[in-house]
Amino acid sequence: MKQAIVYHEDYNKYDLGTDHPLIGDKPKKIMSYLKEKNMISDFQVFTPRKATEADLLKVHTPTYVEHIKKLSQTGGWLSEDTPAPKGIFEVASLAAGGSMCAGEKLFEGFQIAVNPLGGFHHASKGHSSGFCFFNDIAIAVEYLRAHHHLKRFMIIDVDVHHGNGTQDIYIDDRTVLNLSFHQDGRTLYPGTGNVETLGRDDAAGYTINLPFPPGTGSVSYLNVFKEIVPPVTRQFKPDIILYQSGVDTHHADPLADLNLTYQTYYLLAKQVADLSKETCQKLLVLLGGGYNSIACVKSYYNVFCGLLGKQEYLEEEDIPDTDPEAVRHVVSQLKASLNEYWML
Ligand SMILES: [Zn+2]
Repeated sequence: MKQAIVYHEDYNKYDLGTDHPLIGDKPKKIMSYLKEKNMISDFQVFTPRKATEADLLKVHTPTYVEHIKKLSQTGGWLSEDTPAPKGIFEVASLAAGGSMCAGEKLFEGFQIAVNPLGGFHHASKGHSSGFCFFNDIAIAVEYLRAHHHLKRFMIIDVDVHHGNGTQDIYIDDRTVLNLSFHQDGRTLYPGTGNVETLGRDDAAGYTINLPFPPGTGSVSYLNVFKEIVPPVTRQFKPDIILYQSGVDTHHADPLADLNLTYQTYYLLAKQVADLSKETCQKLLVLLGGGYNSIACVKSYYNVFCGLLGKQEYLEEEDIPDTDPEAVRHVVSQLKASLNEYWML
């Protein structure tokens, strides 16, 4: 068996309240659906442990970690959109520990490892919002850098929201190529991630942002993905690929306005898995955002189908792009800015 998944019952305590868009028992829903579809047997399931404070401090400032700890004792608000329920420090540490544990499995004979409670890309070093407390992506990167001496990390983040926290953390680090596809920040939280943000100093070219206009559908999205992601990955030659496979790009998602369909998640995950096979044989998958409780579970299921290269997966009718020309315009802008760094 070449696939691992990490899961803990306490994952379902990452619950920000009943009137909050985050689905508190999403990890349990995903696991049940995998069981229902007889897919769980394709994975070996591991129980993660909490990240230690030392692990958190590899990425976050001591003041920030203390702040979360205090909030966790009293309950309160991390930001306007992010309530901090009592005990969140432990649960968020467990989520980060899950990404570390899944990363470790890639050095124990597994080629693909999934953390269903991962991909908290809005958490920066010393502040956060967007339902995120600790940036498990960066915590896993730093853990793997220290323990396995990896030199090149590739992050492919397809969540509908820009991964601003991950970008802040790695904006001047050329060992981490951070590629984010998201809805244009002028029309969606967190507002960042334009094509001109390319990384600082000698890390220029190692931050890549593709902001899609609202109304972008599967056809344009997949074409752009094929045009940018495989050539950059092959040229970068990563030691590991971290895939934040958020599915809040789905047309039924209540938080955003892209129009991707179930089959898109299959096709994207399949391409990422193929790229991993071709380059590094190490793929860490963090499931990321998804806020329609039915559509997100089905979309994640298709991510799993793509990772495994299954012949059968869920399909629905494609939705035409509202403005394919606008997408082409952004892509040519991005290609022009990347011209100095990558052959596209
Ligand atoms: Zn998101």
